[in-house]
Amino acid sequence: MTNGNLYDANVCISCRERLEALPETISLTAGEFELLNRPQRAYSFAIPVRMDDGSVKVFNAYRVQYNNALGPTKGGIRYHQDVDFEEVKTLAFLMALKTSLAGIPFGGAKGGIQVDPRELSEGELERLTRGFVRAAHTFIGPRIDIPAPDVNTNSQTMAWIVDEYANISGAYEPGIVTGKPLELGGSLGRGEATSLGGAYVLDQYIKDSGLQRNELTIAVQGFGNVGRNIARILSGWGYTIVAVSDISGARYDEGGLEVETICSEKEGGCILKEAKSDAKHLSNEELLALDIDVLIPAALADQITEKNASRVKAKVILEMANAPVSKEADAILARQGTVIIPDILANAGGVIASYFEWAQNAGNEYWKLDEVNKKLREKILGAYTRVQERTLHNGYDLRTASYEVAVERILKAEKLRGNL
Ligand code: GLU
Repeated sequence: MTNGNLYDANVCISCRERLEALPETISLTAGEFELLNRPQRAYSFAIPVRMDDGSVKVFNAYRVQYNNALGPTKGGIRYHQDVDFEEVKTLAFLMALKTSLAGIPFGGAKGGIQVDPRELSEGELERLTRGFVRAAHTFIGPRIDIPAPDVNTNSQTMAWIVDEYANISGAYEPGIVTGKPLELGGSLGRGEATSLGGAYVLDQYIKDSGLQRNELTIAVQGFGNVGRNIARILSGWGYTIVAVSDISGARYDEGGLEVETICSEKEGGCILKEAKSDAKHLSNEELLALDIDVLIPAALADQITEKNASRVKAKVILEMANAPVSKEADAILARQGTVIIPDILANAGGVIASYFEWAQNAGNEYWKLDEVNKKLREKILGAYTRVQERTLHNGYDLRTASYEVAVERILKAEKLRGNL
C-alpha cells in the first residue's frame, strides 16, 4: 500500500463535505481545514464472541477519537447493523463540534459495533461488550477517551464496561464511562438529559419567537429514550404532541395524543402499531409530512433527504437524533424557510450531563437532581445564546452559526497548544 492510500484511509469524506459547505465568511486556512477534516485517531477492532450455541462470531467495532484539543475525547458507542467506519468518523466529528459548542472541557469521539442487538441474547451482548473493552482498554480512560450510551446501548452496557475495565486494570474507575446506573457512579438526571436539554432549547426558541406553548403542535419521530422523554417533557409544559412513531409506524391525533399512556405502553414492551389508543395509524413518511409546527426527528441519521424534504410542512425542525437531515435536504429546507435547530446544539444535553457525571466521579461527591438540571439549563442555553448572537450578527442559519462557534473554540485550543 502506498502512503497515498494510507493518507486517504484517515480522511472523513462527509466531514470534509460539511466543512466545504460552510460559507466563505468562515475562512479556514489550509492547515486548519486539513486538521479538522480528519480524525486524530481511528481504531477498528475485530471482536470474537462465543455465542450461546457454542459457535464463535466475529464482530467489527470502531472507535474514533476525532479531536482532543479541548480535553479527553467524549462520545457514545452504538450497536447497529449498519454501523461502518465512515459513519463513526462523521459522528465523532459532530461530537467534537458538540462538546466545543457546549463549552465543556472535552474533545469528541464516537464508537460503534456492527451488530443487530435484537439478534443477540443478553449474555451474548454482555460478552460482546466485554470483548470490546478488552480490545479498546488501552485507548480509553477517564483522561483519554470516555464512552457513553448511544443508539441501542444503555446504562447496563456501561455497567459491563466499568466492570470489565476494573477486571483488567485492577482498580474501580467509574469515570471510564458516563451514562452509568446510579449504583455504579451514575448521575441523577443523565437518563433524561438529552431530552430535557432539547426541550430547554426549543422552549427558549419559541419564547424568543413570541409564540405560545399551547398554540403549537409537535410530532416526534423515534420513540426510544430520547423521543419518549422529550414528548413527555414538552407535553408536561403545555405543548400538544399530535404524533409519535417507532419502527412499527406512527400514531396521530390532531387534538393531541395521551402521551403518558402511550409512553407507558411502549415502556411495557408494546410497539406503537399495537398500542391501545384511538389515535390514527400513519406511516413514518406520513408523520414527516404532517402539517404541524415542530418536527422532532429523534431516531437515526438521514431520515429527511432530498426525496422527502419538499414534503416537510413543519416550520421548525429540532434535530434530537445525530444528522437526521441530509446535506441535500438542508438546502431544500432552507429554500422553504424551515428553521433547523441543529443536532450539535439540540441534543447536547446528553453530553453536558455526562460532563457533570464525570466531574462527580472525579470529586467523589454527588449532586441533587435539581442541581444537575439547573446546571444543564445554564450550559445549554449558554450555547444557544452564543449561536443566536452569531446568527443575528452574521445572518447565518443556526447550523452555520453553531459550526462557526464550535470550530473557533477548537482552533483556538489548537493554536494555544502550538499545533497551528
Ligand atoms: N451519545 C450521546 C451523543 O451523541 C451522548 C454522548 C456522551 O454523553 O458522551 O451526544
